[in-house]
Amino acid sequence: MNYVSTRNNDIKVSSAFAIAHGISVEGGLYVPESIPQLDTKDFANLSELDYIGKAEYILKKYLTDFTDEEISACVNGAYTGSFDDDKPAALAQLGDKINILELWHGPTCAFKDLALQLLPYLLTTSTKKAADGKKTVILVATSGDTGKAALEGFKDVENTEIIVFYPSEGVSPMQKLQMDSQKGNNVHVCAIKGNFDDAQSGVKKIFTDAAIKETLAQNGMEFSSANSINWGRLVPQIIYYISAYCDMLAKGDDLSNGFNIVVPTGNFGNILAAYYAKEMGVPVNKLICASNANRVLTDFINTGVYDRNREFYTTMSPSMDILISSNLERMLYILADGDDKYIADIQSQLANDGKFTVNDTVLAKLQSLFFGACCDDDGTLKTIKNTFDEYGYLCDTHTAVAVNAYEQYIEKTGDNRPVLIASTASPYKFAKSVLSALSNDIPESEFDTVDALSDLTRTTVPTPLAELKNATARFKDIYKKEDMYTAVCNCLKIN
Ligand SMILES: *Cc1c(COP(=O)(O)O)cnc(C)c1O
Repeated sequence: MNYVSTRNNDIKVSSAFAIAHGISVEGGLYVPESIPQLDTKDFANLSELDYIGKAEYILKKYLTDFTDEEISACVNGAYTGSFDDDKPAALAQLGDKINILELWHGPTCAFKDLALQLLPYLLTTSTKKAADGKKTVILVATSGDTGKAALEGFKDVENTEIIVFYPSEGVSPMQKLQMDSQKGNNVHVCAIKGNFDDAQSGVKKIFTDAAIKETLAQNGMEFSSANSINWGRLVPQIIYYISAYCDMLAKGDDLSNGFNIVVPTGNFGNILAAYYAKEMGVPVNKLICASNANRVLTDFINTGVYDRNREFYTTMSPSMDILISSNLERMLYILADGDDKYIADIQSQLANDGKFTVNDTVLAKLQSLFFGACCDDDGTLKTIKNTFDEYGYLCDTHTAVAVNAYEQYIEKTGDNRPVLIASTASPYKFAKSVLSALSNDIPESEFDTVDALSDLTRTTVPTPLAELKNATARFKDIYKKEDMYTAVCNCLKIN
């Protein structure tokens, strides 16, 4: 299986190369040349396996240049002992049709752990194969959850350094403390004055700058990415949708007419993984793309016009506060039947004008696959309260956006097939907002709020968050967004 760049079909690389390098030289993203298919026999085999077994089975189809032993070592390293009950992707059920895929039982309590516990193993294996064993410098732009999950995944991993940039005003207090208190000898955390898109653009710029690349090479280093622009981040996410499908079948859900998947979306990585699962053979009907007030994707799905020239809102679902959804590029490449010139063209329009319009063919395909809906913070709070009142289920702010979008979908279409809603974070990561949906009595301190939420809802605080109570901040630097390269040099002690 080869991987091609979305902006130049002549660039064909192995999966190890794609993972080691993160992004293609001309700025394109790597996509698999074809999508592996699962037949009835595959699903029968998969249903006999535990999560680790399923992960191996699926990865073998995508990472064909890895040996079976390498894949097995990666997967076992990632998923043994790092998730509650060794179940990275547990299902909860609300009523008889709604399944919640709880993806936050890992070390940082957000779904990014599923990919970022595995990525360091994939990456170190890949660099040995395809990057001459240079030291890998992982640059991460984060709206909160990726940063912490990447830091946990990469801390003290041999031959790597990791530098995380986050918007100083754009993450929750819990997320900030999680990152600033990170332990490890190869980790660096920098706040920047700007929003997530600034951080992401800055990182992309550093990645693709030839002179910077040369400087790194002279120091025996090479950049890679732990953001979902890296294929090694996406492929682990396909696994849990296939696993959830097997679990839904096993508990007797009637999936004869397929089911819908709802994903609270920011960078379009998680929902793209759901799309891959669908194309592989999971009987998914609609992919429901849920956004918060930064509704650029909702508008895009409804109109075919992608326009980032709009007000940026800082919301209570900060991991979705994004106006440039990087992984949409992969989706559009597929919808445009691999027309690399077309993708290069619309991406340069996006870079230059902040805007592009897709053609009618692409729009029709997009709308047949996806339904887009959004809600603001008020809607988020109402949904948290209603979901708790109706089902006794406490969801975080991001998951609530998904539940809200699902309700809009039902209202509009009447489609009552079974549904799988991706739940992307523990409610305790956003305790203040979640508690404020249920009570007017909000304590001053973050940890009193956590305790109040636990008392009110009789739910348990995840251990990694409870333990933060005693953590102290170790990183305090705030950089201007223009100074991100300086920050990199400072962290790596090069100039
Ligand atoms: C990252 C994140 C999202 C958005 O996922 P994408 O793959 O970027 O679309 C949603 N919810 C939470 C809690 C996240 O951390």
